[in-house]
Amino acid sequence: MKIDVSHVTKQFGSFAALAGVDLEIKSGELVALLGPSGSGKTTLLRIIAGLEWPDEGQVFFDGTDALARSVRERHVGFVFQHYALFRHLTVFENVAFGLRVKPRRRRPDEAKIRAKVHELLDLVQLRPLAERHPNQLSGGQRQRIALARALAIEPSVLLLDEPFGALDAKVRKELRRWLRHLHESINVTSVFVTHDQEEALEVADRVVVMDKGRIEQVGTPEEVYERPATSFVHDFIGESVVIPVSVADGALHFGGGRLALDSQGVHTGDARLFVRPADIHVGPPDDAPLKGTVKRVHGIGSARRLEIDLVPAYSIEIDASGTGATPGDLIGLTPNRYRVFAVGA
Ligand code: ATP
Repeated sequence: MKIDVSHVTKQFGSFAALAGVDLEIKSGELVALLGPSGSGKTTLLRIIAGLEWPDEGQVFFDGTDALARSVRERHVGFVFQHYALFRHLTVFENVAFGLRVKPRRRRPDEAKIRAKVHELLDLVQLRPLAERHPNQLSGGQRQRIALARALAIEPSVLLLDEPFGALDAKVRKELRRWLRHLHESINVTSVFVTHDQEEALEVADRVVVMDKGRIEQVGTPEEVYERPATSFVHDFIGESVVIPVSVADGALHFGGGRLALDSQGVHTGDARLFVRPADIHVGPPDDAPLKGTVKRVHGIGSARRLEIDLVPAYSIEIDASGTGATPGDLIGLTPNRYRVFAVGA
């Protein structure tokens, strides 16, 4: 099922939760909606689901108007952060639930229900737990059952809202790998909300980075990490060293001096230089574009970091695993790769 979201806006009072969102999700894709708290991820997911209606804009499922259809008619499967499993039902009955409540003429017979539930329990690798109740499962197992239950109705779209949000870090990691593999075998169009960038980058085919009700960038994990389209995306995804600079006469300036770095076509005015800490080469100060004094060294081995006071004045922190610099040293800093964004871009 292909999903098209077109010019969607949603206000809560005077607050714009979504401010003109356009998004195309291909059939069979696994897409992550990633952004800070309050950026509009859940609102967008709920609008796709049919749990919320936009003020303006349209949503199409395979070209047909989804807004004209109720949640039930949209045939979506849901998984939420707080596993809404039925406590009084066994794992088997939880998964069977969506099949048992189908209208009589579309309800499968008992043998078919059993076969389907067993197939799903095999898929989420929890068949031996079929007769347990939810309170006899770990958090990770409950989420896998919640997923099996969502898949029982063979949804055309699977929507997941922070599905691993309530789990501890180790289980989260296992489950995200597992979800990736599961998606490869079932291939249902899936949209999941997360504020965890590692999760989004590891699991999704494409990542939708959101901020303040807008989409900042849509791209593969590699695209959003390697080629961030905006300063927000550079800052939000991965680590960034950010240095306040300005552009004048087509050149980059810092602290009153001209830098031997490309201004990347940014117009005259205040700008910011973004570099991944690992992309900064530390060497002798002579010809380096930036110079600084090492203020502090902390961490050991590959986690060794340098706190540096740039000349003339600005503090940054960078990776230092390959350098022997010690506090008080004057060093040169050369960004091997960097991006310049105008302030506000
Ligand atoms: P989080 O990661 O914290 O869940 P989110 O990106 O999913 O955030 P949304 O839940 O979509 O964000 O909310 C976007 C904004 O809209 C928030 O500022 C939120 O307070 C507001 N909002 C959401 N639902 C309502 C509502 N029913 N009434 C009023 N404001 C709402």
